[in-house]
Amino acid sequence: MHTVGVDLGGTNIGTVVLDDDDEVVGYAKRKTPIGGDHHGVVDVITASVHDAVDDADLSLKKIDAVGVGTPGVVVDGTVGDASNVPGFQERFSLADLVSDLVDKPVRVVNDVTAGAVAEHRSGAGRGWQHLLCVFAGTGVGGGLILDGQIFEGAHGGAGEFGHQVIRQGGAVCPCGRRGCVEAYAGRQAMTLAAEREIASGGTTILFDVMEKKGKPRPTSGVFSEALDRGDVFVADLIDDCISALAVGIASSVNLLDLEGVVLGGGLADKLGEPFRARIEAAMQPHLFFSPPKVKLVSAALGDNGGAIGAALLSRELA
Ligand SMILES: [Zn+2]
Repeated sequence: MHTVGVDLGGTNIGTVVLDDDDEVVGYAKRKTPIGGDHHGVVDVITASVHDAVDDADLSLKKIDAVGVGTPGVVVDGTVGDASNVPGFQERFSLADLVSDLVDKPVRVVNDVTAGAVAEHRSGAGRGWQHLLCVFAGTGVGGGLILDGQIFEGAHGGAGEFGHQVIRQGGAVCPCGRRGCVEAYAGRQAMTLAAEREIASGGTTILFDVMEKKGKPRPTSGVFSEALDRGDVFVADLIDDCISALAVGIASSVNLLDLEGVVLGGGLADKLGEPFRARIEAAMQPHLFFSPPKVKLVSAALGDNGGAIGAALLSRELA
């Protein structure tokens, strides 16, 4: 059986073809449209499915099902409340639209949940029945596997790890509320803090590094280089990021008694093992269980995790 998985992001649409052995045998990447309505995005998703199937030297006839991981809240194949994809704020049936165009059964799932499924079945969380995946990048997402199953909550909104409140009345979060994990640990929020620092007469080399690397905004690699070069302001931001993630992870473990937590996303990938190890150390004092047994491990599947997870979930349709 071959299935296709699509990972729809705010910048790119990554697509994989999986064979019977869960091996990636085809791959494609296209840019996410930056304007227009949801039909334009669905057209690019469809084109990307064709690209990946071509890359695998297969025909669409050999594909049994398609999975799509998308930002936003997913309910029965519909998606809404995704602010960074054009036309994805208003709820519509993404599964029906893609299914009409590719003539296959289509499963739609939240993108971070798809990433969690991939890490659970073939990545760093293999063998665990109760795990949380935390993806720290532009924002901070979370995906839950409980009793070996994806957990989406009563209305499809579970796993919003980044919007757990860790400081009442704290820093403003990109979601508009205050004191969320993401207000301290999301790259977007950290970038805004650096802009405020410059505006108030402070110093940081963050934006110099960004320009030197030819990036339009401070990427995870830009933060990593500024940290390596000893920028004090960025070091403080990373300290706050680590403590926010540590408090959020420890609270989640206390609530759910997880076997392990998988840490991924652009920031975690670029900052690497020292970042993971510092979060693990910082979460220990907050853990209720003694001695603490929970493990924090780095994600194993990188950028393709979301697409692989969507492809794996679509098998249940085939
Ligand atoms: Zn928030």
